[in-house]
Amino acid sequence: MVIAIDGPAASGKGTLARRLASHLGRPHLDTGLLYRAVARDLLDRNEPLSDPEAAARAAAALDTAALDDPRLRSREMGEAASIVSAVASVRETLLAFQRRFAAQPGGAVLDGRDIGTVVCPEADLKLYVTASPEERARRRQRELAQSGQPSDYETVLTDIQRRDARDQGRPNAPLRQADDAVLLDTTELDAEAAFRQALVIVEARLRV
Ligand code: C5P
Repeated sequence: MVIAIDGPAASGKGTLARRLASHLGRPHLDTGLLYRAVARDLLDRNEPLSDPEAAARAAAALDTAALDDPRLRSREMGEAASIVSAVASVRETLLAFQRRFAAQPGGAVLDGRDIGTVVCPEADLKLYVTASPEERARRRQRELAQSGQPSDYETVLTDIQRRDARDQGRPNAPLRQADDAVLLDTTELDAEAAFRQALVIVEARLRV
């Protein structure tokens, strides 16, 4: 079973994808890390994030087995990733890797922005996870504080709104809910409640 989970920044989709994958015993790919890693490699080489040739080279040379660098989780890297992810050649290069991951026997859980619309349009189940920008900003601020990066709420909210606008407004694979995706609004749900609701949806789909 391939499960595609999309949604905006800090919507809770990553946590949900990880929990579902672990519950179902399937591999999980956080596809945002791929874009974050391409951005890190460009920044490390002092190359511009939106230069299509440099970005395509970085994507082609990416070590997809090394996505556990804690630097990838920073606020700056999320912002840089959203710039690099608008480059068409980067998306194209990363597409093949994501599709191979999804094609593993037994399926997989992938989360990102374009999994249900572009990477896995034939996924068995698509979830679109969202929450209000204010709630997402509160969550992101909490996460940053927990990882030792204190931040100001208004700055985080502005970051989230800018990232939403960039991810939804780009011509290549913009963030949007696939027509056949199930909407899960987590504004009023904690991680446990979101997981339980998603599980009901998954189990109903498994019975079909
Ligand atoms: O999900 P995360 O915040 O780690 O993603 C970082 C950025 O990578 C997003 O803002 C988005 O621009 C980009 N991304 C994407 N397509 C994906 C996953 C992430 O464009 N499938």
